[in-house]
Amino acid sequence: MRRRAVAAAVLAAVLAVFTPASTGAAAQDAQAVRYVVVLSFDGLRPDALRTAMPAALLRRASFTWQAKTTLPSVTLPSHTSMLTGVPPSVHRMLANSWRTSQGYVQLPTAFSVVTDAGGRAAMFVTKAKLLYLARPGTVARAEFLPYPRHDQAAAVRVAMHYLATVQPHFLFIHVADPDDVGHRDGWMSDAYLEVVRKTPETILVVLDTLERIGALDRGLVIVTSDHGGHGRAHGSDRPEDVTIPWLAFGAVAPGPISGQVMTYDTAATAVSALGHAVPAGWHGRAVIQAVATRR
Ligand SMILES: [Zn+2]
Repeated sequence: MRRRAVAAAVLAAVLAVFTPASTGAAAQDAQAVRYVVVLSFDGLRPDALRTAMPAALLRRASFTWQAKTTLPSVTLPSHTSMLTGVPPSVHRMLANSWRTSQGYVQLPTAFSVVTDAGGRAAMFVTKAKLLYLARPGTVARAEFLPYPRHDQAAAVRVAMHYLATVQPHFLFIHVADPDDVGHRDGWMSDAYLEVVRKTPETILVVLDTLERIGALDRGLVIVTSDHGGHGRAHGSDRPEDVTIPWLAFGAVAPGPISGQVMTYDTAATAVSALGHAVPAGWHGRAVIQAVATRR
């Protein structure tokens, strides 16, 4: 039902102006998005990011502070939803740990959709278990950046070097800092908020990198999280745990997103923006405002 309401409201506003990219029309369009970056800040609460976000940066975004992740609201199941386009009832990754010997995700991912279509996909992650999502053959470069933690700038710098030199079509970056500090000192503690205050700078580094390679108007940067937290923990269905930020920059229609965005909409938005059809089994749908290229 929610889909229908969201689609009706948003489509009515933009259909006359924008072509939904999921039709595949964008693939033929020289102005279409060529680069999608998903920047996931582990454990980033939207209320914390909202207070840290400069007005000038927010004006460039299509955004909602009320997006939702799936249950359990923990890192590996939630990122699996984010990047496979389906909830845990379908992907069945309910554990929050993984070793290579347990095997990789077998469902289509945003990586596999892009790679199967002849594109290049890459991931730079600060937790090794996220390599579960890098099924061999679907990700051109899957790199685990262990330490230093609490230095999101360092992790993003490595990914930005890759973006600038190799120019992957789909790039997923995971930053562990907010989660680390949340477990150590508490969500919304001074130390946690201090880490979150660095987030806008990190977003700007990504936008500036796209600009430097002349791709900002053909790029989509999605900033989101896998879960929030309360006290020194997360994982429950409490609003503090399941509410996540969801912002899109670049070739987007700026402004608040009306309607409920789910974390599995991230994969659908990413592949749609690149002009690929959303796989039939996906629950996620493209967030129209984020694939509505300014022209
Ligand atoms: Zn955690």
